[in-house]
Amino acid sequence: MNTLVLKYNGENDVIAKAASVLKKGGLVAFPTETVYGLGANGLDPDAASKIYAAKGRPVDNPLILHIASFGDLESVVSEIPEKAEKLAQAFWPGPLTLVLKKHSRVPDAVTCGLPAAAVRFPKNPVAAKLIRAAGFPLAAPSANSSGKPSPTKASHVAFDLSGKIDMIVDGGTCSLGIESTIIDASKNVLRLLRPGAVTLEDIEREVGRIEAGASVETAGFETAPEAPGMKYKHYSPLASVTVVSGDQKKTVAEIVKRVKLSGKKTGVLTTDATARFYETTPTLVMSLGSGANDAAKNLFATLRRLDFYGVEEVYAEALEETGIGLAVMNRLKKAAANNIVYV
Ligand code: AMP
Ligand code: MG
Repeated sequence: MNTLVLKYNGENDVIAKAASVLKKGGLVAFPTETVYGLGANGLDPDAASKIYAAKGRPVDNPLILHIASFGDLESVVSEIPEKAEKLAQAFWPGPLTLVLKKHSRVPDAVTCGLPAAAVRFPKNPVAAKLIRAAGFPLAAPSANSSGKPSPTKASHVAFDLSGKIDMIVDGGTCSLGIESTIIDASKNVLRLLRPGAVTLEDIEREVGRIEAGASVETAGFETAPEAPGMKYKHYSPLASVTVVSGDQKKTVAEIVKRVKLSGKKTGVLTTDATARFYETTPTLVMSLGSGANDAAKNLFATLRRLDFYGVEEVYAEALEETGIGLAVMNRLKKAAANNIVYV
């Protein structure tokens, strides 16, 4: 299959072309404010099923439905509890996914047979235009090969999926760079299934304390998580990743020591504030920027760049697990398959 890549520069014919591909049951990757999504008609089981094959995604890992208005929500879920409504009002359109009891219209191919569906109303105008032009909700997981870092640029999607999907709408770099926060609102108590671009602090300001899902506490390895996708190896570059956590001075010293002992091609993930401490260490130093927002925006692209440079071992400085830092650390720990050193 040839994959058509078109840049979106405000022309609606790109959206019209993408919508026509989706209406024929095809796969179209498109930008959102979090990461690029791989979209298919979310009400058509045959179209949605193609997503799993293209990504190599395990068939028990359900898809998020993307809608383009508050009204669309009622067409895909059967119940909207008060707290879910409050969260939607506060954070939609935006990087929050709500898991709610599904409408019978939503096929099992999207929810993997679960009684609830995950739904998000993205803010990115290209995504919103595309969903409206298609006229149905788009089932869309991240547009990467399963297990690889999520794509934050069209070129990442092309690298992983060209030849396997019909079209990529290139809408530039994703503004947030990390996936949505997932809240299970289908049961009596709200639960955080995946930390993401909307912070836990912001959510709790709206609805009070919520429970952490198993997937959050364990980064998804020890117990069966509630967001099925959290159990799989994720966000992994080819290199092995080690996260080093603790006091700044000790962290740097530990990383320098490990780099010197390694004997392999190494890379170090730092911040702008700490990058200079590695100036005399023979390693590839990559800064994620100057704070947690920068780290969220740059993490996935930087993990991909490490592969490009053939790095075999990566040492990453841990971030503080507050605000969006909780989501960044969740992804980093998964990239490291929970290989964390405390100093
Ligand atoms: P991705 O869009 O690639 O970030 O993957 C979607 C995430 O949403 C995965 O971690 C899924 O396990 C999770 N998810 C999707 N649908 C559901 C659902 N019905 N219940 C719980 N988690 C879900
Ligand atoms: Mg994904």
